[in-house]
Amino acid sequence: MMKNKIMFFLCFIVMAFNVTKVDVYICGPSGAKKYHYSETCRGLGNCKHEVVKKTLPEAQSLGLTLCGWED
Ligand SMILES: [Zn+2]
Repeated sequence: MMKNKIMFFLCFIVMAFNVTKVDVYICGPSGAKKYHYSETCRGLGNCKHEVVKKTLPEAQSLGLTLCGWED
């Protein structure tokens, strides 16, 4: 019984961590319109700039929207 509670708690911590600390990738330091969850996304494949890593809230605060290739 106690073990189940600990497992549940650990799962909760892992889920909370994933939600609050999501990294996304954008093309170039500026001018990007989209962010990508995957660094190898096909939407980033034709990026001519350096791929920059940001956190999801940062990307959203820059007015970026999720890439059309991803959900
Ligand atoms: Zn993408």
